[in-house]
Amino acid sequence: MDVLLNGSCAVLLYHRVNNLKTDPQLLNVTPQHFDEQLSYLKKNHFVIQIDELLHNLEHKKRFPKKCVALTFDDGYADNYLEALPILESHNMQALFYIATGTLNTDNEFWWDAVERIILLNENIPLQDQFSLDEKVFDLKNLDTQKRFQIYTQLLPLFRKMVAKQREEKIAELAAMFNSLSPRASHRPMTFDELKKLSASKSAVIGAHTHMHPSLGALDYNQQLEEIKTSKDILENILSNNLIHFSFPFGTIADYDADTIVICKNLDFKMVAANFPYIVNRNSNIFHFPRFLVRDWNQQQFSASLNFFIN
Ligand SMILES: [Zn+2]
Repeated sequence: MDVLLNGSCAVLLYHRVNNLKTDPQLLNVTPQHFDEQLSYLKKNHFVIQIDELLHNLEHKKRFPKKCVALTFDDGYADNYLEALPILESHNMQALFYIATGTLNTDNEFWWDAVERIILLNENIPLQDQFSLDEKVFDLKNLDTQKRFQIYTQLLPLFRKMVAKQREEKIAELAAMFNSLSPRASHRPMTFDELKKLSASKSAVIGAHTHMHPSLGALDYNQQLEEIKTSKDILENILSNNLIHFSFPFGTIADYDADTIVICKNLDFKMVAANFPYIVNRNSNIFHFPRFLVRDWNQQQFSASLNFFIN
């Protein structure tokens, strides 16, 4: 049975809308594909407003037929520059969850910095070894394959660290590889862009921690600091109460019971996770599922969406 006809909603998760040279985490959708995807939704689905998504989840109501909701994680500048005009042209709304630690700087998000330093760099490192979390990485004779191996092994280790230690180790790597200039294509939004995004009818803003850790790896106080800092900063910039939050990475390993208690105590009303399932009246509003969208053309998008919801 088509579960979407049964009062459910598919919440979609995007990160970036851009034209990028490289995208090892598969976070990007090109502007053309994003436009095709929204055109497909307009013809075949009902894209719900964020208030209505909240209302239906809070009151355990059935969703309209063929319902879809749109969300973005992280706060890349292209969310404002590329995604917003396309959303506005289709008269659709998305919920943008913003990590505040790199906001209004030229710095890259930490996973992008690791990509730049290790993958997009032919420099021979100044040292033969890099140690992290009791693991030692051999940096001798780096070829493309070995660089990719090290990159994929480092990311999950960095993910579980507290921000200060992670920042220090990434700075150490950057110096070792002599890769110090962040890419303009990977910058986060400025305060001004965030304010303009927030002023659009096509956007609702939520928080996404300060330094984007895996919250499940942190203790209660570390989690509280990460979550509260992002909420405070965003409320300050936007002069608005923030009621939406999404867990960084968002898989079941990336949050725990403490995270949910903290979200409730900080008065978040609706919290997004990242595991593929439809949302319905029985979904838990403090960790509801979302489907990751890849750089699909209209045909691939429609096939994936039909696979998600059936
Ligand atoms: Zn994120």
